[in-house]
Amino acid sequence: MPSRSTVFLLLVFSFSAFSTKGSQESETERTLVLDGGNLFDGRGGPVQTDPRIVVTGEAIVCVGNAESCPAPDGARRIELDNGSWILPGLVDAHVHFGQTGWFDGRPSSLDFPELFPYEQTMARQKSQPERYFRAYLCSGVTAVFDTGGYPWSLDFKAAAEHNPRAPHVAAAGPRITHAPPAALNLSAEQQYLLLSDEEAGRAAVRFMAAFGADAIKVWFLRVREQEREAIDSRVAAVADEAAARGLPLIVHATSLREAKVALHAGAHLLVHGVDDQLVDEEFLSLAREKGTIYTPTLLVSDGYRRMFEAVKRVSKPELDDPNRCVDEGTRQMILSSPELYNHPSVRAFDQDLKAYRERLDAVYVRKVENLRRVHEAGIPIALGTDAGNPGTLHGPSIYAELEAMQAAGIEPAELLVMATRNGARAMGREDIGTIAAGNVADIIIVSKNPLEDVKHLRHISHVMRAGKLHRIEELARP
Ligand SMILES: [Zn+2]
Repeated sequence: MPSRSTVFLLLVFSFSAFSTKGSQESETERTLVLDGGNLFDGRGGPVQTDPRIVVTGEAIVCVGNAESCPAPDGARRIELDNGSWILPGLVDAHVHFGQTGWFDGRPSSLDFPELFPYEQTMARQKSQPERYFRAYLCSGVTAVFDTGGYPWSLDFKAAAEHNPRAPHVAAAGPRITHAPPAALNLSAEQQYLLLSDEEAGRAAVRFMAAFGADAIKVWFLRVREQEREAIDSRVAAVADEAAARGLPLIVHATSLREAKVALHAGAHLLVHGVDDQLVDEEFLSLAREKGTIYTPTLLVSDGYRRMFEAVKRVSKPELDDPNRCVDEGTRQMILSSPELYNHPSVRAFDQDLKAYRERLDAVYVRKVENLRRVHEAGIPIALGTDAGNPGTLHGPSIYAELEAMQAAGIEPAELLVMATRNGARAMGREDIGTIAAGNVADIIIVSKNPLEDVKHLRHISHVMRAGKLHRIEELARP
């Protein structure tokens, strides 16, 4: 395991590397013309060959061809070869900046208090988001939705919006729940607010509205039978207060009963697939009627399994990070997991990992079948990784999630719309997620056809954010 001081030095280093580069970005507005390649604009229509895209400042000003989009004099021109693919930047509609991708951000699952004190970890999460901003862009993700975290996650929105070295951020702020996990709240800051009664729920919504949240998140774990009536009506009160303030409702509900309550309450976004049973006609017609977006978040539980197996030395930790986007501190935390084997917390963790894996496999089969049913019913689907949870890293985790959705039977062309336009809609944005005149210039360039197989997104060569084009190598781990 790296010593704490090593990790700290590396983080300081990456932070200062970012700061020195920041100053040269504030150039005057300029025009950039992209010519050639193949364009998939995120709306699901046919691919356009040999397109021209004109970008001025932060915005796309023309999408067409050399005739319909004349290149202004003096514009910088970039020729793409005919093997290049141009797509909107990817959108991860389910992330948490309050989590690290390892157990130190989630001590409720495994706690190492003397090695990684939670309050210190959270102080770093709050002050050093640049490492994740970079990892997202480096992985082709130009917008993320933080669907639940500490109040400071709301501050990232403004910091990132016009920052060509950060993805757009939408944020929900603290979650409202009947079951807040004590280990994941700090003494003076909370990311889970207790839904003790209807008025507490309404007060939480008023707080979120005043502090500029983009949505209201309800963490709706399965409720015991004798409490259902009371808790359901509290959730309805939250939904009512949110609607009155024009704030969309986001719900974490993995059980069918609670998910239906959420749909009745008018949920805009379900950030997890249902996994305790198969969704039925009532669920599907409710979701259709309410216009709910469904985020299957297929792989997050598998990340926990891999990290548990790593500390227990059942399997080696692996980093699925093809373009070296993950920061050095996070990389070392993941790879040195087996060194904690003899730690009392790991010794005390005596789950039968084989049985755990079998349970996850059974749940996974239901998640895949539910995704198939939701898709067939025509309900909009967005891509979300739940990044920040142990084993699900900010940035490159998007590739495995895309591949899992493809393996579940979704065609690449539809999947790419889910991972771009639909994610933007989940965030409440119409000006990102597609390549169209007037939209923010968030574009990725890939050197292999992603419509053949979404795994080709791993071959990303460039990312443009707010009109600024970066080579992936520039964004990679220093
Ligand atoms: Zn989540």
